[in-house]
Order: sequence, then structure tokens, then C-alpha cells
Amino acid sequence: MAEKKIPLTREQLEALTERFPTPFHIYDETGIRENARRLKVAFAWNPGFKEYFAVKAAPNPYLMKILKSEGFGSDCSSFGELLLSEKVGVVGEDIIFTSNDTPAYEYAKAKELGAIINLDDISHIQYLEDHVGLPELVCCRYNPGPLKAGNAIIGHPEEAKYGFTREQLFEGYRILRDKGIKRFGLHTMVASNELDVTYFLETAQMLFDLVGELTAELGIEFEFVNLGGGIGIPYKPEDEAVDLAALGEGVRKLYEELIIGRGITPLDIRLECGRMITGPYGYLVGRVLHKKHTYKQYVGLDACMANLMRPGMYGAYHHITVAGKENEPSDFVCDVTGSLCENNDKFAIDRAIPQVDVDDLVVIHDAGAHGHSMGFNYNAKLRSAELLLREDGDVIQIRRAETIEDHFATLDLDGLKSFGV
Ligand SMILES: *Cc1c(COP(=O)(O)O)cnc(C)c1O
Repeated sequence: MAEKKIPLTREQLEALTERFPTPFHIYDETGIRENARRLKVAFAWNPGFKEYFAVKAAPNPYLMKILKSEGFGSDCSSFGELLLSEKVGVVGEDIIFTSNDTPAYEYAKAKELGAIINLDDISHIQYLEDHVGLPELVCCRYNPGPLKAGNAIIGHPEEAKYGFTREQLFEGYRILRDKGIKRFGLHTMVASNELDVTYFLETAQMLFDLVGELTAELGIEFEFVNLGGGIGIPYKPEDEAVDLAALGEGVRKLYEELIIGRGITPLDIRLECGRMITGPYGYLVGRVLHKKHTYKQYVGLDACMANLMRPGMYGAYHHITVAGKENEPSDFVCDVTGSLCENNDKFAIDRAIPQVDVDDLVVIHDAGAHGHSMGFNYNAKLRSAELLLREDGDVIQIRRAETIEDHFATLDLDGLKSFGV
């Protein structure tokens, strides 16, 4: 069982709160960099290996710049994410644009940046050609449907809105070939928060086999296969992290057998993980405002579901540490809540934590992906600041907290004065 630790002591956190009031998210640069290097080492056998960080997981340009410096690209799925990537200097084929239900202006931006366009549907070939023209390199997203068992968060592939069917994939590449496209990639994304290495190896096998069939039938060559994201993280202390070295080695063996062994032109392995890149290295820090004892025990924080909605949305487990009480017994069973007028605004239900007091600092783990980025303004709650713990121990603010002025910025309150009703 892995111990879930926080990179700062209670005293250090208390000192930080004098500069930055709670709640805030804080990211650990050292953790992010060490993890990024483990992933690169695991796939170093493949000279063209590249991870495209799924921007939606933590769309902060400072974090993206750190990942750029580790050699990662961006996986974008919207105009805003493309723009963010451009601001960080990640452009051209260091971007894969994996969108769905895509408007023409987003394709136009992707093409302008020279991004790899990953099509979600066969009808988008014509749509893309009509609106912005076909790029030189095209990737298609495969949805294996009932041919692949699903996992809990992403569900069964045949229920997922994404990607081409197998028949459409053959037809789609044929159309692209006949339109003169010469550079191809193949993509799938069939897992989310998956901790079982076997699942990814099966995905790799499926894509390598498919490359063989497409190559044989259509006489086209693939430059890369993108295995998607979806590598899980050990949210619970008893969970085991994915062994990246075993994953890399497993994919290598399949590649040797199914690509090199069949005489297929060597190709690059690509990933577009988000969660496992930043998730474990981000923490949501809040302070206990109230304790309440009715039919249950409640601990109310100054953070709420607007800062981290995974527990409320998915019933997801996020580990909780009471700063400075790491070594005390967890013998207080309570619901840890926020202040939204929604009963699912709970970070934990029936969780055993140490005896907490009002004003204690509470740290919620694994909030570094799909955390701040899923924030919303329900109940007029504001999104928190994001901080970065640098490698030298310094802490800088990488996004300020929203203010009430930000929240009202889209309203014309002056116009309200002359709005006679
Ligand atoms: C969300 C998403 C990812 C990243 O998923 P993680 O679970 O964060 O690794 C990658 N690719 C696509 C197309 C996605 O939608």
C-alpha cells in the first residue's frame, strides 16, 4: 500500500496561505518532471516516440511550458486549447488536434498551426476539404465498438460517440489516398483511468494489426500510431500505479513482432495522456470552515466542487490529508463538503480521517488533472488560484484566483439601470 504524501509541511503551507489565501491548487514541478522522464525512458526504444499532453487535463501555460521542455507536444480538442498551445510555442506537428463534432473555424486554426489533424468521423473528410482544405498528413480515430471491451469511465466503445467504425476506417483511408494524401497516422482512445497494463497492450496489438491490414489492402504507409491517453493513476492508497517500464517493454515486443516482423515500414509510437502526466502532482488545498454534527459528521471546507468536481460528478475517490496530522490515527468518520447548494458537493463521504479542527488545512490529492480545468461558476463560486512549487522550493502563482469582477464581466450592469421592467 503506497503512502500518499504531500510535498509541503503544515508550516510551509501555513506560510503560503499568507501570500495566497485558500483554496488554491498547487503543482509539484519536480514530480511532474521525474514522471515525464520515466515515460520517455520507457519508450526510448522507439526513436520517434512522442507524448502529446492532453491540454484539457491542466490547461495552464506554465505547466505546458514545463512539459514542452521535457519534449512533449500538445493534444488539443478546441480552438482555445490550440491557442494556448500556440502561446506556449508548441506548434506544427507537435500538436495533434483530436476533436469531435468540430466547427470549421477550429479546423482552420489547426491547419494554420500545421497541427496533425485527427479526424473523428468519415464525413469530416469532405467537411475538412470543403472548409479549409486537406492537410498533408491525416490521422483517423478508430472506434473498435464491440471488438474491444470497455472500461468504467469511458464506457463501452460501441456506446462512445467517438471515432470511425472498422468499415469506415478502410473506406476513409481509401478516400484520403484517392484524394492524394500520402502521410497517415492511426489513432484510438478506448480507455480512461485504466491501471491495467494488459489493456494498453491489447490496444497496441489491435492498432498494429490494423496497420498491417490497412497497409496490405490500400498500399498506404503509416508514420505513427497514437495509442491515446487513459493511463490511470492510483487515486486510492491501495491502488498500484501503472508500471511504465513494463508498458514500454510490452509495446516494444508487440511492435517487433507485428510491425517489424511483418516487414511493415517502422513507425512512431505516440501517446496523448493527460491524467497520468500532471494528476498525482497537483493538490487542492482548503481550510476547514465549519464542523457540523447532525445525522452525520460534516467537515466543511472553503473549497467546493467548483474547484474539483470529480468526486461529485463521478463519485471519484480523492485521498485527503489533514496537514500536520499525517501520523495521527484516522478515527474520525465524516463527509468532507463544500458550500454549494448541491448535496453532491462532497469531496469524500464516510471517510475516516484524523480528528480535524476548524482552521486545519486539508489537502486533497491527485487534483492535478481534470481538477481546476473542470471548474465552473455555479452558485457564483469563483475558481481558485493555481500555484507552482518549483524545483528549488520556491512557490510562484501561475494563475490568479478569479475575482467577482471577472464573474460579472460578461454582464452589462450599467445597461441594467436603463432596463425598465
Ligand atoms: C481526455 C482525452 C485524453 C487524455 O485522457 P487522460 O485520461 O487524461 O489520459 C487523450 N485523448 C483524447 C482524445 C481525450 O479525449
